[in-house]
Amino acid sequence: MQVPRWVVVTGVFIAGLFAFFIFFRSLWDVARFAMGQERTFAIIKPDAVAARSTGKIIDRIEQEGFLIKAMKKIDLQKDQAEKFYGVHKDKEFFSDLVAFMTSGPVIVMVLEKVNAVKAWRDLMGSTDPHKAAEGTLRQLFGTSISQNAVHGSDSLQNAEQEISFFFPEL
Ligand code: GDP
Repeated sequence: MQVPRWVVVTGVFIAGLFAFFIFFRSLWDVARFAMGQERTFAIIKPDAVAARSTGKIIDRIEQEGFLIKAMKKIDLQKDQAEKFYGVHKDKEFFSDLVAFMTSGPVIVMVLEKVNAVKAWRDLMGSTDPHKAAEGTLRQLFGTSISQNAVHGSDSLQNAEQEISFFFPEL
């Protein structure tokens, strides 16, 4: 059966558009990488969400020059929290940590900036809010070592793993 000419032309046109889009997206990714742009993964934890500090934290994130690439509000399930914090499964605080992270909604985010992993860790401050530097998010919004308002990936490799854990589509 002869395929009509218009079907072939339309097919080639759509395939061409698609290839064009993929090519320039890849070029853009390479350019961003060359400029030192990184992605990191962040969580606004249940204590900060319950305290209605979400807006203030997001405002600060944008003021500090991060681009919010993705964001959603979710209720972490117990098995998800156990898997996410699996590296701490032998620590005595593990069950408290899982109970806390599943105690209320959290905001999960992908943040982009030059040196995003370190920049976000610096903005968060030390794990213990009482030891965190003045003006850091944990010093401002955290109340204890367990209820410390925010999470951030500690390496580029973990950032990519944590992003795909919550945003498999990225
Ligand atoms: P982070 O990278 O600064 O978040 O710190 P860690 O990876 O060491 O710990 C993960 C999370 O576990 C922390 O953010 C705290 O919420 C919690 N955590 C860490 N150490 C303790 C602790 O000694 N006691 C309790 N209750 N929670 C802790």
